[in-house]
Amino acid sequence: MSERMDTHKVGLIGTGMVGAPFAYALMQHGVVDEPVLIDADSARAEGELMDLDHGLPFVRQVRIIAGDYADLADADVIVISAGVGQRPGQTRLALLQTNADIFRQIVPQITAVNQDGIIVVATNPVDILTYISAEMVGLDQTRVLGSGTILDTARLRYLLGQHYGINLRSVHAYVVGEHGDSELPLWSLTNIGGVRLQDFVGANRLGYGQAALDQIFGHTKNAAYEIIERKKATYYAIGLGLLSVVEAIVRNQHTVLTVSSPLSGQYGVQDISMSMPTIVGRRGVEKALDLPLSEAELEAFQASAQTLKERISQL
Ligand code: NAD
Repeated sequence: MSERMDTHKVGLIGTGMVGAPFAYALMQHGVVDEPVLIDADSARAEGELMDLDHGLPFVRQVRIIAGDYADLADADVIVISAGVGQRPGQTRLALLQTNADIFRQIVPQITAVNQDGIIVVATNPVDILTYISAEMVGLDQTRVLGSGTILDTARLRYLLGQHYGINLRSVHAYVVGEHGDSELPLWSLTNIGGVRLQDFVGANRLGYGQAALDQIFGHTKNAAYEIIERKKATYYAIGLGLLSVVEAIVRNQHTVLTVSSPLSGQYGVQDISMSMPTIVGRRGVEKALDLPLSEAELEAFQASAQTLKERISQL
């Protein structure tokens, strides 16, 4: 973390549809003093800088820079959202080869100038790119995490809140595993206001309705396909999700988030990065939680890991 008192620098590599709304959220939130924008298309980064700068009179002052890798030397966090996105109907895993090549250019340029900053991967397929990045970083793997299923978890909480007519802030639910088609919800740990979902719906005579839950999870899992079909990309919610990850790191909040991190035997899974509820703080991944999953959840989690491993082996 930088020595400068209370100031935080965050690098953003990739100022496209995801990066720009994240920078916009970062600028308004006041959690960071110096966002640095980097893009292979330097004109795009400059254009975003100009547009954001012109909004500064309306918000708290931050010093935004359109720079290059040398400007990341003292960055506390570096977020990567560079690379290609899904086309309608395309899976996230289909993006792997192209985006892995891009990451092999980007990550060494970060580590050449910065050995301490936390690297947050948002580009898809996020779990595999997080794993590859952690390998490139070397020993200190807690430095690398991916946005993983933070967005899927947010979508599930939102939809459950709508379904039960409850403020989504009182809904605690997790989507874990791959950020993609093999992800799974942890129904056994879902609670509303601290009360197990089954008990909550029983007490309120709502009916548990596994079919309704399955449908809600279906909408959660397919949300990106639905949005991309309609407006070509998803970006506002992930921009805010990335903001919450960066805030957890720079403010050392020890927030539990379903970020993706390299697993080393938890849940019988290793040599892959995937999402589990994880404590996030100044050192990046403080701890991926060891949770009591149901047998079916454990099986589905391990199957999700297998899907990712098979894809990595084809690289
Ligand atoms: P985009 O095409 O709008 O932007 C990508 C940017 O990356 C472009 O500006 C491009 O110039 C830049 N870029 C490409 N190669 C680069 C390199 N070598 N160095 C620096 N910059 C480079 O795409 P997008 O919609 O912003 O999506 C970016 C990624 O984020 C995609 O992989 C997408 O699937 C992913 N995404 C992730 C989530 C999530 O939940 N993690 C959500 C939405 C999108």
